[in-house]
Amino acid sequence: MPNCPSLSSCPFFNDKMCSRPALAEMYKKRYCKGNYEICARFKVSKALGKEHVPNDLFPNQSDKAENLINRK
Ligand code: SF4
Repeated sequence: MPNCPSLSSCPFFNDKMCSRPALAEMYKKRYCKGNYEICARFKVSKALGKEHVPNDLFPNQSDKAENLINRK
């Protein structure tokens, strides 16, 4: 699986969101450098556009992502 195409611009990947480094590393491995298509941020960005991704949305918050997508 290739890296997420948003890697360079994503606030989560660039450590602007998570104050728990160990947790952030785990998510980066799982989503950003693993299966990015299941990342909540990626899903919202793909469906609605980058500008609709909430600043505080974490990669594992799929339910929140689905709600945002379905609300539109
Ligand atoms: S948090 Fe999601 S959108 Fe951001 S780089 Fe990682 S996989 Fe991509």
